[in-house]
Amino acid sequence: MLQMRDFERIAVVGASLAGLRGAEELRRAGFGGELTLVGAESHFPPIDRPPLSKEVLASQWRLEDARLRLFEELNATTILDDPAAELDLARRTLILTSGRSVRFDGVMIATGAAVRHLRCPGADLSGVMYFRGPEDCLALVARLAEGPRIVIVGAGFIGSEIAAVCRGRGVAVTMIDAASLPLEPQLGSDIASYVMQQHRRHGVELRTGVGVQAIEGDTRVRQVRLTDGETVPADVVIVGIGVTPATGWLKGSGVALDDGVSCDQHCRALGVDDVVAAGDVASWLNPAYGRTMRVEHWTNAVEQAEYAARSLLGDPGPGYSSVPFFWSDQYDMHLQSAGIRGEVDEIADGSFDTGKVVVESRIGDEVVGVLAINWRGRFQRLRRALTSAVMASPRP
Ligand SMILES: Cc1cc2nc3c(=O)[nH]c(=O)nc-3n(C[C@H](O)[C@H](O)[C@H](O)COP(=O)(O)OP(=O)(O)OC[C@H]3O[C@@H](n4cnc5c(N)ncnc54)[C@H](O)[C@@H]3O)c2cc1C
Repeated sequence: MLQMRDFERIAVVGASLAGLRGAEELRRAGFGGELTLVGAESHFPPIDRPPLSKEVLASQWRLEDARLRLFEELNATTILDDPAAELDLARRTLILTSGRSVRFDGVMIATGAAVRHLRCPGADLSGVMYFRGPEDCLALVARLAEGPRIVIVGAGFIGSEIAAVCRGRGVAVTMIDAASLPLEPQLGSDIASYVMQQHRRHGVELRTGVGVQAIEGDTRVRQVRLTDGETVPADVVIVGIGVTPATGWLKGSGVALDDGVSCDQHCRALGVDDVVAAGDVASWLNPAYGRTMRVEHWTNAVEQAEYAARSLLGDPGPGYSSVPFFWSDQYDMHLQSAGIRGEVDEIADGSFDTGKVVVESRIGDEVVGVLAINWRGRFQRLRRALTSAVMASPRP
């Protein structure tokens, strides 16, 4: 049992993955006071996001199948569909968009990230879509049934997963990315090249090294004009150009904001007391690497939220050290990555020819990252070894 802070009321802002897991951990760690969970969305328990661009979009799962499970009795007041608009730390009060107020002694910020919007002429035409939550997914499933010509702007993980599902459904896809080799920063050049080859092999018209000049049409999308002057016909444009941390409601609160909520190694928000942050919204000093990071992946949202909950309640012990991990599913590829990108990548086992490969990323002699395609067992062993090595020598 922790040495508990004397909090009577805790508010968790953001009722999705990090918020839910953080709230559960507060109860698990023994917090017996009033717990309020504030969410901008109407689903609770929340709908998990990874299946949205995979099984749900492919119509293999219903939305209900993607609902997160509750592992703890929360005994909380849950306020949904009413985003926090202001954090008043002097009055220890949260003001919601409806005007309702919520009193607290401690706060966990778990407001995640929101899609970055395309800014070009025609970006507001009907048929331009974004993909983050359940409603976005259902809207796209409905459009796919019409067999539209799809243009995906951004060949990152979300764009790539959507492209794979659309091709699986026989829909024509053009994917555009300003980078000459999309996903290279995340996967390194060998795996990124292989992934892009797979898109082409599955019939995606891939246009790289080119941007979007304008989206054209009268009221509905008709075509996308590229920066090289070419046009691509389109009925639907899906924009997947990244996300930004959802911190607008924190302006003026005193919470330090930089790339998200700036936190110390204990996930405590800088500049204020009794506030922690976790998940996509939090940038924190990761002791494992001795530098500030913000991670937009599922496993971090869970682990960081659990840590931040304990940190809010009392002495959290050593800081939140984390070796980033993510996975992605595209076509018949299950991609996994742990650690960070190094300077040189080498195949550790398998080959791209067989579609089963493990790549190690190194700085000098040190392995700093492991990536795998379709090799879960081998990846897990190497991930464990990497995590042990990183944790054994935390950076100052
Ligand atoms: C389609 C999709 C597929 C993904 N696939 C993978 C994958 O395969 N592997 C992987 O590792 N990761 C994946 N991710 C990333 C992973 O889902 C996220 O890292 C994770 O959801 C982050 O959880 P979070 O709770 O921090 O943020 P979010 O899930 O963004 O939740 C934040 C919540 O806060 C709410 N909110 C925002 N502002 C306010 C406010 N002012 N007041 C109250 N509530 C507010 C939001 O509406 C949202 O419900 C995927 C993400 C998406 C969108």
